[in-house]
Amino acid sequence: MELGIVGLPNAGKSTLFNSLTEAGVPADSYPFCTVDPNVGVVEIEDRRLDKLKEHYQPETCRGAPLKFVDIAGLVAGASRGEGLGNEFLSHIREVDAIVHVVRLFAGGEVAHVEGAIDPLRDVEILESELIIKDLETISRRREKTERMLKTGENKYREEVSYLDHLQEELESGRPVRLMDLNEAEEELVAELFLLTAKPTLFVANLSENKLENRENNESILEMRQLAEERGEELVELSATFEEELVELDPEEQELFLEEMGLESRGLERLKRAGYDLLNLITFYTVVGDEVRATPVPAGSTAPEAAGKIHSDMLENFIRAEVINFSTWAEVENMEAARSEGLVRTEGQDYVIQDGDICYFKF
Ligand code: GDP
Repeated sequence: MELGIVGLPNAGKSTLFNSLTEAGVPADSYPFCTVDPNVGVVEIEDRRLDKLKEHYQPETCRGAPLKFVDIAGLVAGASRGEGLGNEFLSHIREVDAIVHVVRLFAGGEVAHVEGAIDPLRDVEILESELIIKDLETISRRREKTERMLKTGENKYREEVSYLDHLQEELESGRPVRLMDLNEAEEELVAELFLLTAKPTLFVANLSENKLENRENNESILEMRQLAEERGEELVELSATFEEELVELDPEEQELFLEEMGLESRGLERLKRAGYDLLNLITFYTVVGDEVRATPVPAGSTAPEAAGKIHSDMLENFIRAEVINFSTWAEVENMEAARSEGLVRTEGQDYVIQDGDICYFKF
């Protein structure tokens, strides 16, 4: 599962991406980590995992990985091929969800591409490019559907009406993900891989000195209102501040955060929000000398979860022994938990819950 970082030029995407990956894990921890400089895998901070680690003292401990892709190259007019144009848009098509970075910091070393700071205008510029692309996709589909209409089958007539609906709303500036769609329309949208259908969260990239007094900042309030109206997540941070934090050791970081009146690092808030945006939950495995946190889409079954550890385990799944972290934390002793009957045996239909500690038998 991948999160694509998008935004207008000089919004702070690369700064954010770099601080994410510098604070991240050594690349060789994850087999799917590539040498592509625009792709980074980071670990989610996880108190439950810390607790398991403290208890088991394993040789290796792996946090849940999350993959970010820095998608540069969007400028106004990208849908007409300006800038990296179509290349940029095809990268967006490949990611599962979007982190949309909006510039709220004034000044800085590089001027804003559009002159003054205006986050709502910037959101609209970027979204219109994606909307135009989606309209093109819909229009191509319509040509096909209209040819098929001649067969007289009802489903093609229905499809035209769905396409009409999507087109109309897109033309009014509404991203697909914010539309109220029926089931058949949802299916069509999934088939078309529309860009504005992807789950999205916003990052308000602030000046360092705006981190402290956010309640009186008009741009921030505008972004909060946009996010709230849409029911989308907004992460407020300063990319350059996060970059500085990464350089410090953990105690210094704590002090620095406290000084700024911040409760947590923006990067951690961003990672957590990205994880939730992808609808991921975490299960844990304690095997031999390794404790590991693994993400799965919410609703995954036990064999599907086992398959995330190793594909053999999906095919040859027999059963899982499961105890949720919250129960384990009460006893902190697997033997005691077993003898008290707190470890359950679950079959292939079991739906994994966030925080489950699993032993897969295969
Ligand atoms: P990109 O084009 O979106 O990848 O933007 P960059 O990450 O290259 O940032 C553009 C410029 O803005 C660089 O000079 C950054 O140092 C600066 N910048 C990025 N984030 C911040 C921030 O939070 N505060 C300030 N003051 N400057 C920033």
